[in-house]
Amino acid sequence: MKDVLDREELAVDMNPVISKMFNTEHEQVVFCQDKSSGLKAIIAIHNTTLGPALGGTRMWNYSNELEALNDVLRLSRGMTFKASISGLNLGGGKAVIIGDSYTQKSEALFRRFGKFVNSLSGKYITAEDVGISPKDMEWVSMETKHVSGLPKSLGGSGDPSPVTAYGVYMGMKAAAKKQYGSDNLGGKKVTVQGVGHVGETLVKHLSNEGAVVTIADINQERVASVAKLYGTQVVEGNAIYDWDMDIYAPCALGATLNNNTIERLRCSIVAGAANNQLHDELIHGQRLMERGVLYAPDFLINAGGLINVYREVEGISEARAMELTENIYNTTGDIFNRSESTGVTPQVAAMEIAKDRIHAIAKIKSVL
Ligand code: NAD
Repeated sequence: MKDVLDREELAVDMNPVISKMFNTEHEQVVFCQDKSSGLKAIIAIHNTTLGPALGGTRMWNYSNELEALNDVLRLSRGMTFKASISGLNLGGGKAVIIGDSYTQKSEALFRRFGKFVNSLSGKYITAEDVGISPKDMEWVSMETKHVSGLPKSLGGSGDPSPVTAYGVYMGMKAAAKKQYGSDNLGGKKVTVQGVGHVGETLVKHLSNEGAVVTIADINQERVASVAKLYGTQVVEGNAIYDWDMDIYAPCALGATLNNNTIERLRCSIVAGAANNQLHDELIHGQRLMERGVLYAPDFLINAGGLINVYREVEGISEARAMELTENIYNTTGDIFNRSESTGVTPQVAAMEIAKDRIHAIAKIKSVL
């Protein structure tokens, strides 16, 4: 193996991603490797102006390191905006472990990862994300105290999903108020894509309010049990994008709002839990607006889980976390009004507010 890559290899492989790191203004990116446990991980700290960078660790079988780096840069930046718009004293960070979450997990791997997290002295606080279980996080916590979102039995704040679902529900109501003049979702046709931890609780809130709910999920057992429990209709596969609905709630994967889907959508609101719903946040946010579809920015309305975890960092009560989550209703309404008065999309309006807060706090910190 060559010790040093030649100039051409560097230019071809790394430049776009390294440039992205600088363009997106990341503070620090840490590459972690431990041969004996098989750990390969990347920790990205995007911005710590408001506080320590908090964001989950994802374990995913990325096809190569560049894909992993790209993902962690994208996700950590999103966490900065999520914390800022939610008024939290937290920065944005995220970590990815490269590997198969079914076959490559071990105590040694997670404890070694915990040591890397610890070496950052609290600048990065980790939590669970896709592919990671409470048991894995328990191993991480043996090596560092900078872990959040542990189960209640281990002194943590427990499963964030119900709080996330409540925030999404609040954001959806704010969108209904703007689009229909009333936030009552009774009789509204709402389609929830993905009825996992967040999606199912959202279905519960919507059903309680009398919405006409349709669900979709690739897990057939899950879709059958949720449909039976709440008496919902079911839509299969990609037919969801042509479904007759008032509100589309993506609660499964990101990037479902793209060139292929937006032209087909027959809804007037999009409000869901999935991260990074817009395949391109500028182009697709704009296209939704042109088509008269009101988009509730995902990083704003799915912040309930982060707010719940924040309890552990700032020591706020469960009741206060619920108040902050309920306030997503007001913040979402403010964003829609700003979008209307300035002509920018709700996504851009939300990002502007998040950035303004960071810049303002950076200024006062510099004089303290
Ligand atoms: P989950 O894994 O519990 O549920 C996701 C569900 O989506 C699963 O039931 C899965 O089968 C289904 N799914 C996957 N691909 C699908 C597809 N193509 N079509 C339909 N269904 C599909 O995850 P979750 O915790 O409920 O989170 C849902 C989304 O919300 C994720 O994008 C997550 O990143 C985001 N989110 C979650 C939280 C939280 O607190 N859990 C917080 C913020 C954001």
